[in-house]
Amino acid sequence: MIRLSMPVLGDDEFAAVERVLRSGQLVHGGECDLFEQELAEYLGCRECVVVSSGTAALHLALLAIGIGPGDAVVVPDFTFPATVNVVELVGARPILVDVDPGTYNVTPAGIAEAIDAWSGPEKVRAIMPVHEFGCPADMTGITAVARQYGLSVIEDAACGLGTRHNGKMAGTFGAMGCFSFHPRKALTTGEGGAIAIDDLELATKIRTFRNHGIERNAAGMDFIAAGFNYRLTNFQAALGRAQLPKFAGWLQQRWQLQAMYRQGLADVPVALPDEVAGHAWQTFMVVLPAYCDRNTVIARLRAAFIETNVGAQCIHCLKYYRSKYPEMCQSQAGNVAERLYTQGLALPLYKDLEAAQIDFIVSQLRRIIT
Ligand SMILES: *Cc1c(COP(=O)(O)O)cnc(C)c1O
Repeated sequence: MIRLSMPVLGDDEFAAVERVLRSGQLVHGGECDLFEQELAEYLGCRECVVVSSGTAALHLALLAIGIGPGDAVVVPDFTFPATVNVVELVGARPILVDVDPGTYNVTPAGIAEAIDAWSGPEKVRAIMPVHEFGCPADMTGITAVARQYGLSVIEDAACGLGTRHNGKMAGTFGAMGCFSFHPRKALTTGEGGAIAIDDLELATKIRTFRNHGIERNAAGMDFIAAGFNYRLTNFQAALGRAQLPKFAGWLQQRWQLQAMYRQGLADVPVALPDEVAGHAWQTFMVVLPAYCDRNTVIARLRAAFIETNVGAQCIHCLKYYRSKYPEMCQSQAGNVAERLYTQGLALPLYKDLEAAQIDFIVSQLRRIIT
């Protein structure tokens, strides 16, 4: 079976984890502190806070700037649902925005239009753009819209480690940038995440929330907030640290793989994603023509020992959101996000995927859909 994605786990990674396991320091420790410093250096931001998942990062980011009941947050209609679930979890209201058919990202114009059209009782407080599949969202334009309307920006860069917009790292444009190290992402710690942040006070607040609300003081410790346990373990951090120095090279390999797909698929009737500068290619998703039943295509590729999958979800098509916000969901019916959700096909992409395997995947896809 050609897998959809494979983590890169070599001798360096095994040695790093073993070293920490033998040390006996398993929960948050020195490896976490070093991983935070090295990530901040890689991203070019002041601070990073490592956490237990990308979802935990997004949740803490919203809490840190006090988003809650009575607030609304602008989110893409096409994303992994965690982006929108965290808005619900803090008691705020999501405002869905359709995405661009070539980048799969929200656009500044789409965001501005949604804010102008918003008449709900909730006050729009923040924009959460997603760098979908590692494609850089237009952060120049989105930052300008945020400034114009006085909103905070929290970037969901879960797929966007190494993504750049105009040379600057995704996740470092907004007040906070949230990353995931789930095994589907290009750099993995098993489960894990991080928040990139320049505001040191907010970073301290997030670290407190991450660790049960504990504040250490002269008397020992006190609990100053009802916090979570959203810590990353020390051996997970060691795994991430073993991968980070090699990551830039992996990004180049991923770029080459998507270029091979692009060449091979030129005569296959699928829509290809835009080849945007700075794309990290966490996922390569094509869009099947309307006459194809995507799930049948997935099943037939599986029969040829090729694992493929849905790219991301369309939020307005999901049961929870349809029943909670029927009007908003109906108003989005038939949009780009819905087409990407029903016709999108994520193809295998990982560092060690071979050219011959890409040829095979392309030939099988061609055979199945033409
Ligand atoms: C993977 C992903 C998440 C969730 O990250 P986890 O680490 O799995 O919690 C959130 N948003 C997007 C866009 C993602 O791709």
